[in-house]
Amino acid sequence: MTSQQKHLSSERILSIPKVDIDDLECSICRGLLWKPVACQSCETSFCSTCINQWLIDHPKHCPNRCETYIERKCPPFIAKLLAQLNMKCFYQSHGCDQVTSYEEIDKHEIECGFQPRQCSGCKSEILEKNFDNHMGTCPLIDLKCQTCKLIFKRADFNQKHTEIICLKEQIRLLQNESKEYKHEIHELNLQLDEMRIIHPKIPIIKITFNDLQGGADSVYCIPVQYRELTWTEIKKHTIILLFGKPQFILLHWKDIDKITFESSGGTAHPGSDSGLGSQVILTQITIDTFE
Ligand SMILES: [Zn+2]
Ligand SMILES: [Zn+2]
Ligand SMILES: [Zn+2]
Ligand SMILES: [Zn+2]
Ligand SMILES: [Zn+2]
Repeated sequence: MTSQQKHLSSERILSIPKVDIDDLECSICRGLLWKPVACQSCETSFCSTCINQWLIDHPKHCPNRCETYIERKCPPFIAKLLAQLNMKCFYQSHGCDQVTSYEEIDKHEIECGFQPRQCSGCKSEILEKNFDNHMGTCPLIDLKCQTCKLIFKRADFNQKHTEIICLKEQIRLLQNESKEYKHEIHELNLQLDEMRIIHPKIPIIKITFNDLQGGADSVYCIPVQYRELTWTEIKKHTIILLFGKPQFILLHWKDIDKITFESSGGTAHPGSDSGLGSQVILTQITIDTFE
């Protein structure tokens, strides 16, 4: 809790050097003025949060029944009196003995090491200054294995996250991932079915990656253009092959009557007999649909 959110109790004033505390009281919350503003007509000062809250319920009305509430800065003598105050820290009851000037109190309380924070594990209130230490040792904190994504309490590490459990979890994750890919392929095929209705040329080709046993790894071997094919545009796809390197291109299609390798220029190689033999060297493959 910072000073912006609470009402300042005048009991927290340490020294009152010739100050009439009544002048510094907010007429709404009866606490010490905090970040005060004033009504232009009656010059009464209010905490800015108090008056803003009031104006939500009573738009444009001053709590002192002035005709229209117009906000102005709080009168200089009030600001001057407030500046003279020395305040005890809000967290004094938690052990903070810091005394701060009125103007510095907000800054201190934001950083005060004695403000309590709740531990997400054991739910107990821990002082800010001890918080990091506590988080590093609290047995009820949830830990997450970055490899298998399993979440377990620190105290359960030895029972709930053994090496075997971690490996089993990893397998389960991979199986799920593979299921997701299969689903994606299924969706693609459905999309393709729809496209067939609009473009009757398409029925020649049906892509199925249904036998995808290896899960994620195999999927990455499939060239991007086949994984994310935009079926509305299917007409012609050219793959440039890498020179001197084996490449895995999964073209596991159904309903194909014939595949023809056709040479289009280049040098004839031994056994390829002008590009019409049984052996060819390909530098590029074009997959095309035709009627
Ligand atoms: Zn107030
Ligand atoms: Zn007024
Ligand atoms: Zn403090
Ligand atoms: Zn804890
Ligand atoms: Zn793990």
